Amino acid sequence: MSKILVTGGAGYIGSHTCLALLEANYEVVVVDDLSNSSYEAITRVEKLSKKKLSFHKESILNKEALDQIFQKEKNVDAVIHFAAKKAVGESCEKPLLYYQNNISGTLQLLESMKASNVTDIVFSSSATVYGEPDEVPVKEDADVRPTNPYGQTKAMMEQILKDTGAAYGWGIALLRYFNPVGAHISGDIGEDPEYPNNLLPFVSQVAAGIRKKVTIFGEDYPTPDGTGVRDYIHVIDLAHAHVKALIKLKQDKSTHTYNIGTGRGYSVKEMVETFRKISQKEIPAVCGSRREGDVPILLADATLANKELGWQAEFGLEEMISTAWKWQSQNPKGYKA
Ligand code: UDP
Repeated sequence: MSKILVTGGAGYIGSHTCLALLEANYEVVVVDDLSNSSYEAITRVEKLSKKKLSFHKESILNKEALDQIFQKEKNVDAVIHFAAKKAVGESCEKPLLYYQNNISGTLQLLESMKASNVTDIVFSSSATVYGEPDEVPVKEDADVRPTNPYGQTKAMMEQILKDTGAAYGWGIALLRYFNPVGAHISGDIGEDPEYPNNLLPFVSQVAAGIRKKVTIFGEDYPTPDGTGVRDYIHVIDLAHAHVKALIKLKQDKSTHTYNIGTGRGYSVKEMVETFRKISQKEIPAVCGSRREGDVPILLADATLANKELGWQAEFGLEEMISTAWKWQSQNPKGYKA
């Protein structure tokens, strides 16, 4: 049985991926400092899978502790690396925190992997590395030119991984996620942000009556209804992409970069309108100004992931929103309740 160490495994995408791994019969070791996540997510993953995972409450910045975890766990076959800070706005206010945390964390992790002879890693990257691409749908060979410190850290971490992979012959999978949304079908695990910066968690909280209204960030974009268009991807589809990437790395020790999206775009207005229909809630929305750094439209060309990983998105908009709403309604206070 293959053993996978998951950094940030208690987080939104991490928890869904841990569940997918357990369901695919992997052994799972989670390293998470719970700085932006909750142990309750782990408890629920174990309940849903009816399996146990090995949990270490530790920061990947603590190199000594990380080395010990690799030694203690023995025979870790591969790593999936989620642990990182991820708020764009905060990264502009506190760039040093982002560079320190994301870059140093990744360096420590790679050092520990090297010391323990672990040579496969799947990395949680983001479509934000493309900035404003010249063409959509965007392909993996498009220019990397992020527009904020968070995106810069993702681009730098990708580069560090590529160089490491090339030097030591490691297997590296860089998964560039588009807009992850939705929750597990059970509604038992989902996204639990302290403050929702992203559209769907915000809309969920408005539907639930926690916030009064949604502000649409710009209605004058060159898109069909004037609002921003994004490629939303169900978090379960995303989780499965990680499992497929692990299988790929077993066979092919080189660096692989994959867009993970559906290729289908929805505007902010379409998202809000569909949420209204599914939740049967009013969801007041007002138009505001554009948010700095936002692009009009971002869509994935995910042909490569389809061809090389045999991966494709199974869930559509309906399931993305209905599961997000189920999670929100069942857990009005997130994991805190
Ligand atoms: N958006 C919005 N209001 C919000 C949050 C987001 O209108 O309160 C828009 C944003 O401008 C973008 C889309 O929703 O067009 C998705 O934004 P999100 O922050 O979810 O993801 P991003 O694409 O920025 O990573």
